[in-house]
Amino acid sequence: ASGCITSAESVLITLQSHNEVLNFLASNAVADTASQKVAVISIAPQSLASLAASISSSSSVPVTPRQMLRRLRVFCKEALGFEHVFDTTFARHVALREHVKEFMERKEQHRTGECDTALPMLASACPGWICYAEKAHPEMLPFIAQTKSPQQVMGTLVKNWMGEKWGKRPDSIYHVSVMPCYDKKLEASRTDFYNEAYSTRDVDCVITTGEMQLLAQEKAWDLSLPVPGENVTSLLTSSEASFPELIQHSGSSSGSYLQSIVEHIRSTSTIPLHLSVKQIRNVDYEEFVLRRDGSDPEGDVVFKGARCYGFRNLQNVVRKVGRESGVRVGMGAAGRMKGKAAVQKRGTRGQDKAVEKGYDYIEVMACPGGCVNGGGQSKPPGNFGIDVEGFSRDWEVTGVTLDHAPEALTAKWGNKAWTKKVEDMYWHDLPTPPASPVLAGENHMTQKEDAGKDSEIRNKMADRLLIDITDDFCRKPGSGSHLFRTSYRAVESEVVGLAVKW
Ligand code: SF4
Repeated sequence: ASGCITSAESVLITLQSHNEVLNFLASNAVADTASQKVAVISIAPQSLASLAASISSSSSVPVTPRQMLRRLRVFCKEALGFEHVFDTTFARHVALREHVKEFMERKEQHRTGECDTALPMLASACPGWICYAEKAHPEMLPFIAQTKSPQQVMGTLVKNWMGEKWGKRPDSIYHVSVMPCYDKKLEASRTDFYNEAYSTRDVDCVITTGEMQLLAQEKAWDLSLPVPGENVTSLLTSSEASFPELIQHSGSSSGSYLQSIVEHIRSTSTIPLHLSVKQIRNVDYEEFVLRRDGSDPEGDVVFKGARCYGFRNLQNVVRKVGRESGVRVGMGAAGRMKGKAAVQKRGTRGQDKAVEKGYDYIEVMACPGGCVNGGGQSKPPGNFGIDVEGFSRDWEVTGVTLDHAPEALTAKWGNKAWTKKVEDMYWHDLPTPPASPVLAGENHMTQKEDAGKDSEIRNKMADRLLIDITDDFCRKPGSGSHLFRTSYRAVESEVVGLAVKW
């Protein structure tokens, strides 16, 4: 999504492909027992939603993300030779808990004046955004959370925790993840996620949703056909009993990072808090404010956050954070960012205006519409967004208006109708689809109680398991409290804009 990568990075991306996965599996199948690796694949919920939407649109019987996971489990085991097939929602659960913890630590540091971190805290799960910040806005790095993304948390869990349970060293496991964007390939190849002791990465190969679909096509596997047991509602499947399956986190389809912080603040507050949500520029830039209940709409703000998706919104938010924090904001990605850099102290913007509370937290995502609209997602059926010369075109961004029906517009960023379908599919198994955090007074649990209860049980199971995992890790020498954290640094290198179609 970044549109801003180095040629070295484009090589890293091409090294991770569905062919790479097929090559590994073929050589692993004939390797002698001692050198055979355990093949594991972890699938992101946004990828499941995209595949389910894609299959549903070309089949008479709709498919849910849960059914899709079960079908992919059978496909990956029987046709490809994977031993374990997980979804990444338990890893996301771990990441969300760690994210909230990190946010509260930062707030406390600021309260006591011991600041070695910055506020507002900016989300860290989107490598498209981080890649951009590292190159174009290194001044933003102290603001970015250090909690690992769900993909990398999954890497730690599979290679370290599961590996130990299976009696396998990290380098005896081959871990593939299926993600909605190409940027996740770059994330997996960061040196921070390379285990030098065993010369192995936490995630060995990342393939996109579209590449997963390609694997099925190449193996002539029909994902529109049901598999036995795909409607079983058990919380754990027999073979994958290690992690609760498809844990639901209401909030946003990009991971619910903002919502998890809002929920934590509300649930731990000694006074009732009221949440208000305001659209700032468009649906991809919304502000969330928690106030003391009954207080003046303009007063007593306890928390102020934002959900900000897409590079246009992101550039505005970077400027805003710079203004509010007194940080000098650069002139942009390889000179492409326009606008005046402003340097003003946090809260002193506009001498005549009342001091406005700055943001505490921002859920930043590079793709417009967030992860359901990632550049590696399945394309809607049909010849969408292809120009007369056969190239993919983002018509909206290039300013072209077409006469066709919305569905006939580009399958790339900007196809709002298709993104909406994937978004709806993403929320399919939730009690209700709250695309935004739950507002005060609303009770979604009453609408579909069974689904609500099921979701609650999975969350509780996940919390218990997280305690066990943390205990296990803490007993290991060298594994500390920062097991699920990482760090970022400025990158100074040759940048080739748009070298890869995101
Ligand atoms: Fe990837 Fe886009 Fe999601 Fe960022 S917002 S993690 S680039 S799909």
